[in-house]
Amino acid sequence: MLNIPSQSFPAPRSQQRAASGGRSKVPLKQGRSLMDWIRLTKSGKDLTGLKGRLIEVTEEELKKHNKKDDCWICIRGFVYNVSPYMEYHPGGEDELMKAAGSDGTDLFDQVHRWVNYESMLKECLVGRMAVKPAVPKDYHEEKKVLNGMLPKSQVPNALAKEGPVSPSYDWFQTDSLVTIVIYTKQKDVNLDSVRVDHQYDSFRAETIIKDYSYLIHIELSHAIQEDFSGLYYRKCQLISKEDATHDTKLFCLMLPPSTHLQVPVGQHVYLKLTIAGTEIVKPYTPVSASLLSEFKEPVIPNNKYIYFLIKIYPAGLFTPELDHLQIGDFVSVSNPEGNFKISQFQELEDLFLLAAGTGFTPMVKILNYALTNISSLRKVKLMFFNKTEDDIIWRSQLEKLAFKDKRFDVEFVLSKPTSEWNGKKGHISLDLLSEFLKRSLDKSKVLICICGPMPFTEQGMRMLHDLNFSKDEIHGFTA
Ligand code: FAD
Ligand code: NAD
Repeated sequence: MLNIPSQSFPAPRSQQRAASGGRSKVPLKQGRSLMDWIRLTKSGKDLTGLKGRLIEVTEEELKKHNKKDDCWICIRGFVYNVSPYMEYHPGGEDELMKAAGSDGTDLFDQVHRWVNYESMLKECLVGRMAVKPAVPKDYHEEKKVLNGMLPKSQVPNALAKEGPVSPSYDWFQTDSLVTIVIYTKQKDVNLDSVRVDHQYDSFRAETIIKDYSYLIHIELSHAIQEDFSGLYYRKCQLISKEDATHDTKLFCLMLPPSTHLQVPVGQHVYLKLTIAGTEIVKPYTPVSASLLSEFKEPVIPNNKYIYFLIKIYPAGLFTPELDHLQIGDFVSVSNPEGNFKISQFQELEDLFLLAAGTGFTPMVKILNYALTNISSLRKVKLMFFNKTEDDIIWRSQLEKLAFKDKRFDVEFVLSKPTSEWNGKKGHISLDLLSEFLKRSLDKSKVLICICGPMPFTEQGMRMLHDLNFSKDEIHGFTA
């Protein structure tokens, strides 16, 4: 059982209170956490009002369901009755109502492409859209409508005759998107059973159903212009887990043999676990195995392993589950995302890193990369904000690195220090920053990276603007 306290949720400093990508999250009423939603979906209550029937929904029908207590939304050709979910939505009811009675796919993709709505909303599924736009016969003449994507269809069905009921497929199209839907006629087929690849003008989607595979292999008329929406996950095995602090652990996961995945500096991935029968996804930023390889040899020096520093919140939803995994168990890992660009390092002279708590994680690869690859770099300074000395992740590695590399300096700031602490105290402030952010030369090229709890990052970014640093000189991890 997960031990979830009954005080207000999310907790005052929880990242669930944070604004994400400029989008405010709203405080949820008591009893309306994600876990409460999962419990409701398992209760057997009829959440669609259709007593388990699935229907075909016309556009006219969809439009009628546009009120809070009767709100249907279409996502990728599937229609959900989201009224029961309203009070549980971290983005608030108004955000959901923007798509009421209409196709919310684009809105959904803009805001939280990574949220696993198929699993979260499966009990709210009303059915699929009945009407799809007519297909122009000669798609070469209709490039604008079809965005160069329509298939010269070629759909071999690899299911043996005696296998499960043969799937079928269908597709829906908007101006910029073609959605291919595979009807497996099986319950509980999740994304892990689907493998999607595309190269140049070839699109291949394989769905694994029991011991069978259903393969769609399509030649596209043009190369696809935009990436697929929806994230691709692969199952990775937990290889080791060691304490980094009293509550933060270094997890090492092994990628499947056929996978090549190297997460770019400053980017994150999503980890996915099934908790109480529902797939839950949370973002995490991979780190290197250590700050500099000389201090600790990576266990196995190749790209088969992916490391995470993860803080375990005893009352959290995801991290206690992650912590309970045994060595050899599996976690799904998505493709990387994020808007940090390595080009921000070009000709960089001064790099300032402001990290709070696990906001240190993106700084690990940034530090390693910058110190190893940026020859113009004169100074790298990390100001690391934590509550207590015990909370400082990799303190001795940081101190060793500062000793070894004269360009690097680290300063710790504690918000709840003991009386023995002689270092800096308090929260992020203009005073602390103006003293810390001194350019090595009058006009040296500067980059300041900031990451931590959202109030920390937002306050810090405001202060950096007040200190006259330009937008180009600041990278806030606000995803
Ligand atoms: P949640 O369930 O979200 O709970 C968070 C807090 O709220 C906890 O303090 C918990 O005790 C409290 N809480 C939960 N339920 C209740 C309740 N009912 N009442 C009161 N309080 C409650 N984290 C890392 O450790 N490492 C990383 O590398 C990392 N990278 C990230 C990258 C990005 C881009 C982002 C946005 C976040 C990252 N995070 C990282 C944070 C991570 O995604 C999770 O938010 C974090 O692990 C907490 O998840 P959780 O489900 O365990 O806790
Ligand atoms: P924490 O609660 O241990 O706090 C660490 C320090 O952050 C505090 O000592 C304080 O100096 C500062 N801080 C906390 N709350 C503050 C507030 N309201 N105002 C100003 N300063 C504040 O931190 P934690 O539990 O390790 O949480 C780390 C946070 O970083 C999480 O919210 C996580 O989601 C976020 N994070 C984001 C990314 C990203 O890429 N966006 C990556 C990793 C972690």
